[in-house]
Amino acid sequence: MVPTMGYLHEGHLELIRRAAAENDEVAVSIFVNPLQFGPGEDYQTYPRDLERDAELAEAAGADWIFHPAPEVMYPPGFATTIHVGGPLTERWEGERRPGHFDGVATVVTKLFNLIRPDRAYFGEKDFQQLQVVRRFTADLNLGVEIVPVPIVREPDGLARSSRNVYLTAGERPKATVLYRALLAIREAAASGASPAEALAAGEKVLDGVPEFVPDYLAIVDPDTLEPISKWIPGARAIVAGRFPTVRLIDNMEVWDR
Ligand code: AMP
Repeated sequence: MVPTMGYLHEGHLELIRRAAAENDEVAVSIFVNPLQFGPGEDYQTYPRDLERDAELAEAAGADWIFHPAPEVMYPPGFATTIHVGGPLTERWEGERRPGHFDGVATVVTKLFNLIRPDRAYFGEKDFQQLQVVRRFTADLNLGVEIVPVPIVREPDGLARSSRNVYLTAGERPKATVLYRALLAIREAAASGASPAEALAAGEKVLDGVPEFVPDYLAIVDPDTLEPISKWIPGARAIVAGRFPTVRLIDNMEVWDR
């Protein structure tokens, strides 16, 4: 299965194609999950287009679409959530979006129980989410193989996202700043910089676009998401922040495995 919130783009379609190539049948869920949005976030305005999504998903190889109504997933009296504890959920997105990962863990567990997939495909675009999903899937013996899929980008490097439609024409070219900061870190690492020096190179790139207000830029252990002071195989740079109209996240492996 491929869990999504819909408004499908090339990133989602790559997950569906991978799933179709590697499995007999593919179910795609399209559900804007209220539980993973905080107060003041964009649950109401999150873009939706079921008809177009269904066509795109089918063309990419989906056999089933699961599109439940919120009241079907969370009927009156619903009272159980999955809380993923520990350092993995305390930092980064977990800190900026309290309750977000509990919402993700709860809906993904429900989707796994409803669909009973052998494998589930998740994008590296949401890298911390991928690691959180791996954590509770293992912790709760859900018996689903989690398959990671690399980030799909626009030609100029912007990571594809349903939220990119919120970017104004003026912001759109500047939105490459996340990708450019990550590239600067990877290039600095390749030319002998320490993680601290590479991070400074990335911060300099972010400073060049004052409309973008960073929430964090860090170089972390890919498994624990703890910041690192020495290079380790698979080290990841992660970044998130806000333009006036939209919050964006991105990440990149900056030290080879
Ligand atoms: P969403 O609809 O935003 O919840 O995303 C559904 C799935 O698609 C998640 O596993 C995301 O990580 C994945 N995804 C979203 N954007 C991309 C992208 N640009 N490249 C790869 N995977 C993506």
